[in-house]
Amino acid sequence: MIDLIDVSFQYQNGTEALKNINLRVNNGEFAFVVGSSGAGKSSILKLLLREEIATSGQVIVNGYNLNRLKNRQIPNFRRSIGVVFQDFRLIPNMTIYDNVAFALRVTDASVKTIRQQVPYVLELMNLKHKARMYPYEISGGEQQRVALARALVNDPPLIVADEPTGNIDPEFSYEIVEMLKAINKCGTTILMVTHEHDMVKYFGGRTINIEEGSVVFDDYIGGAYEG
Ligand code: ADP
Ligand code: ADP
Repeated sequence: MIDLIDVSFQYQNGTEALKNINLRVNNGEFAFVVGSSGAGKSSILKLLLREEIATSGQVIVNGYNLNRLKNRQIPNFRRSIGVVFQDFRLIPNMTIYDNVAFALRVTDASVKTIRQQVPYVLELMNLKHKARMYPYEISGGEQQRVALARALVNDPPLIVADEPTGNIDPEFSYEIVEMLKAINKCGTTILMVTHEHDMVKYFGGRTINIEEGSVVFDDYIGGAYEG
């Protein structure tokens, strides 16, 4: 699913952001990625999404070897990952329904598929009654649920969430992670970057700690959550 083998990554200006990272996340896993600011978390995500290419080592995601990915393979590769951002990134002048439908339309999905899938994922995210509203009319927590619905609608094997609760009130933050947990139970692999220690302690599970470009901890921790 995700396999980083001896991965190092250096930015143009010489900053060594990742130093010999080895990391495997198997099909169906849920993993938190934690670490201080500047530790290298975003750099890992950039490599996984193929926004950057490793300086050395191998990056394999969903069966694609990203070191050797051809430009024409990039669209299919990107579609195999659902991405959720801290700042939601919804399209402001589109309804909730159309924000989700758009993710399918760009893949040339049939009208029939769109009419089936969009209401289905909106229902899953408990948003059916908000379908005709615009992003500015709903709360941050709801906007993030729209982003989750959008990430989910193409049924990707992997969802990558970059600080998905960073802009949400704590009471709703837990709800977002619970939804990610529920999605994970249906088989989707989830990698979630967060700096919220209390949340990681509550949910528990595989926790990967990155510091100064290296993996300093990678193990399962117990949590209070019983999902
Ligand atoms: P995190 O996401 O954990 O906060 P990053 O992956 O963003 O950490 O940063 C890792 C290191 O790379 C830091 O030293 C940071 O300053 C540096 N860095 C991040 N982005 C760039 C960039 N575009 N150019 C140069 N250095 C960068
Ligand atoms: P198309 O045929 O262009 O795929 P539809 O005929 O399904 O679109 O819908 C037209 C528009 O009506 C959509 O773009 C959307 O704005 C709205 N719409 C359709 N179904 C729903 C729904 N279940 N809830 C809210 N809005 C909807």
